[in-house]
Parts: sequence; C-alpha cells; structure tokens
Amino acid sequence: MLRVLIVGAGLTGSLCACLLRRALQNQVHITVWDKSRGTGGRMTTRRAEDSVGADIGAQYISATEFYRKEHHSLYSELLSAGVFVPMSCPVEGLRQKDDSLNYVSPNGMGHIVKHFLQQSEAEVQLLRHVTCLSRRGAFWEVEFSEGRSEAFDAVVLTMPVPQILQLLGDVPECLSEQQGALLAQVQYSSRFALVVSFAKDSSLDIPYGVKYVSDSPIVRYMSVEHQKRSKDLSSLGPSLVVHTSVSFGAAHLESPLDQVQPIIFEEVQRLLPQLPEPISMKAHKWRFSQVLTSVPGCPGHMTALEKPLMLLGGDAFTHSNFDGCVESALSVTRELTQRLSR
Ligand SMILES: Cc1cc2nc3c(=O)[nH]c(=O)nc-3n(C[C@H](O)[C@H](O)[C@H](O)COP(=O)(O)OP(=O)(O)OC[C@H]3O[C@@H](n4cnc5c(N)ncnc54)[C@H](O)[C@@H]3O)c2cc1C
Repeated sequence: MLRVLIVGAGLTGSLCACLLRRALQNQVHITVWDKSRGTGGRMTTRRAEDSVGADIGAQYISATEFYRKEHHSLYSELLSAGVFVPMSCPVEGLRQKDDSLNYVSPNGMGHIVKHFLQQSEAEVQLLRHVTCLSRRGAFWEVEFSEGRSEAFDAVVLTMPVPQILQLLGDVPECLSEQQGALLAQVQYSSRFALVVSFAKDSSLDIPYGVKYVSDSPIVRYMSVEHQKRSKDLSSLGPSLVVHTSVSFGAAHLESPLDQVQPIIFEEVQRLLPQLPEPISMKAHKWRFSQVLTSVPGCPGHMTALEKPLMLLGGDAFTHSNFDGCVESALSVTRELTQRLSR
C-alpha cells in the first residue's frame, strides 16, 4: 500500500486527506502530521472549559456565487452534516460583496477541519514537527521532532511557504530556480488575536455578532462568539474574539505576548466600556495570518519533485480563505491521484 504523508492538519491538509481517500480508497495509507497540539491550523477553535470557546483564526466563510457553484458538493456536504449553517447574526461595518453568502460553524471553525479528517480515516499524529526531508531512492525519509524519522512514497507540504523554505535536507535543491523565485514572492500579513472570556450569566450588552472596527489603530475586528455562531449559552459563559489591525501586528511582531496583550485589552475597554470583568484572557500571534501575495498565477499547487513525489499546497497557491484552500486541495489531489494510480 502506498504511504502518503500530508504535513499540516489545517484546512488544506485535512481536505487533501479526505479527497485522496475518496479517490484512491484503500490503495493508500494516509498519514497527517502537525506540529501543534491540535488540528485546525489557521482554522482553529480554542476550547475553554467554562466559556463558549473561540475561533482564533478564520471567523466565517464568505462564499461567492461562483464558488458556491464550483464547490457545490462540499458546501452541500457541510451544510447537510450541520458543520456549518448560514450566518444570521447582525454584522456591523462589513462591506459585503454583492453575491456572497456567509456561513458559520456552530461548534467553531475547527469543526470543519475535524470533519474532513474524520472522513479521511487518516492516521493523524500531533506534536510532530517536521524538520528535514531526505531522498532515499524511491522514498522520502521525513525527520520530525527529536531526530526520529519515517519513510513515505509521497509527501504533501501544506504549511505557510516561509515554513516550507525553512526545512532542511533535500527540499531546497528539489526546487528549480524558477520555483524558488515564485515562492520568494509570497507574502503574509501578521496580526494578533485576543480571546476574552467571561463568567456564565455575564451580559456583554453588545448588539452585534461581528463588527469590523474602522476607528481604531489597534483593533480591526471583534466577534461575540455565541452570537456569531448562534450558540446556546445556557451552561457556558460568553467569549469575545478580537483581531488587531495588520499595521499593529507588523509593529509588534517581535514583542512578547505578555506586553502586547494589555495594549490590545486597553483598546477593547475603550471601544466597549460596558464590558464586565473577564475571567480569563489569552493573546495569540499569527505571524503568518492571511496571504497578501500568492504564488504568481495561483497554480493551486507546485510539484517540487516527481520521484519520489513531493507536492506543495495551501492557501498561498490560491487565495487565503475557505475556497482558496478547497481549490488548492482539489489541485493537489488531482495530481496525487494521477501519479499514484499510474
Ligand atoms: C486571523 C485570521 C482570520 C482569518 N479569517 C478568515 C475568515 O474569516 N474566512 C476564511 O475563509 N479564511 C480566513 N482566514 C484564512 C484561513 O484561516 C486560511 O486561509 C486557512 O486556514 C489556511 O489553511 P491551510 O491548511 O492552507 O494552512 P494552515 O492552516 O496554516 O495549516 C498548516 C499547518 O501546518 C502546520 N505546520 C507548519 N509547519 C509544520 C512543520 N514543520 N511540521 C508539522 N506541521 C507544521 C501548522 O501547525 C498548521 O496547522 C483567516 C486567517 C487568520 C489567521
């Protein structure tokens, strides 16, 4: 049985695993590794014992009519499984594109990734930080944390491009000069997320689910999680998610989180003076947040090497949202399926 490793348990990696399983069924053993403690990547929901939890990365899916048609079967699958539902909360400050419809995941955006991983029946291993890939005849030897390694027939890398370019071993020399030049053009924004959680029965007295903030140099976006997700709060406390502006993210990129967190919270209190005392607060730095410049031509994926096969995918090869990841995963899976079934 062919052994395929997908590095990255974000949306692109999980969907690649799912689509590959559907295409090749039991001809492949699919393994997904991620360096983090949990799945989701930039589509992660941070769980909390006493509050509703929080989407710290992607917030909701904004689907144009074009992509609703193009990716119809995936939209139907997720809607009929209840993984996402139409967004119904009040939104302030959004310049909505005319034909887009918005969807939220009632259990958090991380649930979308979990759905695809479950469907893929892949072996998912967390806390596996890939550091080095070496060609060994027909295989890739993939080294992860603490110098341990395993061999695979094909590897798909789905992490942000700068993290691909940091890998040791044969990856840099597999890439042609032209591919290297294309990857060097990819750029990401950086920003911080702050999750503020409140005790059960607290009232935040905020009329919207989502607000785009235009009168702050620090805060760009706020979401009241239970209102955004239409989630019943009877046994849990509310959470507020705050995303900073890209300019604030860039200016404080190398500052420690414990210095940045109070600056963001002070601004939140200025914007929302009625907030009750929180029970907890946690900031997160997104060094690679959304793709500002994609790989030129948005090819969907890149073939770094044919034998042994190595493909690169992720939102940098298309655009930075749900449909961008779907496009990349479809493109990776088409190529994998063609090459592995020869
Ligand atoms: C703040 C923010 C808000 C956003 N808002 C929206 C939104 O509202 N709607 C929307 O559609 N999109 C949104 N996006 C964009 C969306 O989240 C991304 O496009 C998407 O999640 C990218 O998925 P991916 O699988 O390509 O990459 P990632 O999610 O980055 O997955 C890559 C994975 O690789 C892992 N990894 C990295 N290096 C290694 C290594 N060496 N070894 C093992 N594992 C490794 C990482 O831990 C990560 O889990 C937002 C993103 C951010 C950050």
